[in-house]
Amino acid sequence: MTDTIDTGTLTAWITRFRDAVTEKREWLTELDSAIGDADHGANMARGMAAVADKLGGVAPGTVDELLKGVGMTLVSSVGGASGPLYGTFFLRMGMTAGTVTELDATALAAALRAGLDGIVARGKAEAGDKTMFDAMAPAVDALDAAIAGGASMADAARTAAEAASAGRDATLPLVARKGRASYLGERSTGHLDPGAASTAILFETLATTIAERT
Ligand code: ADP
Ligand code: MG
Repeated sequence: MTDTIDTGTLTAWITRFRDAVTEKREWLTELDSAIGDADHGANMARGMAAVADKLGGVAPGTVDELLKGVGMTLVSSVGGASGPLYGTFFLRMGMTAGTVTELDATALAAALRAGLDGIVARGKAEAGDKTMFDAMAPAVDALDAAIAGGASMADAARTAAEAASAGRDATLPLVARKGRASYLGERSTGHLDPGAASTAILFETLATTIAERT
């Protein structure tokens, strides 16, 4: 058996992410009410509901078609900063994946890396700015390292999910330097970054979906 993720499994990941951000909507909004404008849960739930509507009933085509569709829907349906940022993530991921129907571990890592680079190109976040970058960068680095060490896709994705949640937790003491939370200056310390929290969910759902893939 080859160790790949196909469009069906990627669609299952997107659906699972939709379910998880919908379930954790109140918590994400609560995090954003401390250092932002209390809409991150609503933004993610609305954006992913629009994505799921668009995917509903449509047979998954190529990986780039699927992910570019997800990205474009997020850009157009979410008003907050997170819409264009997650939108760019999925668009770049799709562009890098290309017109294929499945990805091996190396191709998946390359696509996720391109998505991360897209977020940086758009939002200019650096490590320690207290943004989604602080959960995503360690996750992508951990995925690369696990794959280079010969791990299976499922084990590598699990390692990446753990790195993302550690990265989320590490945003707690940080002072925000990007986005709305940066307006608070020093007062942003002592709170988790909402975008880092949703990014940890993104990688957690990826790991679970890959572990359960058929
Ligand atoms: P808004 O800030 O417009 O209300 P959301 O509340 O949906 O949008 O999303 C806020 C999250 O977006 C933050 O917690 C942070 O993780 C992320 N974010 C904001 N600005 C940037 C940026 N320049 N680069 C990376 N992530 C950012
Ligand atoms: Mg907000």
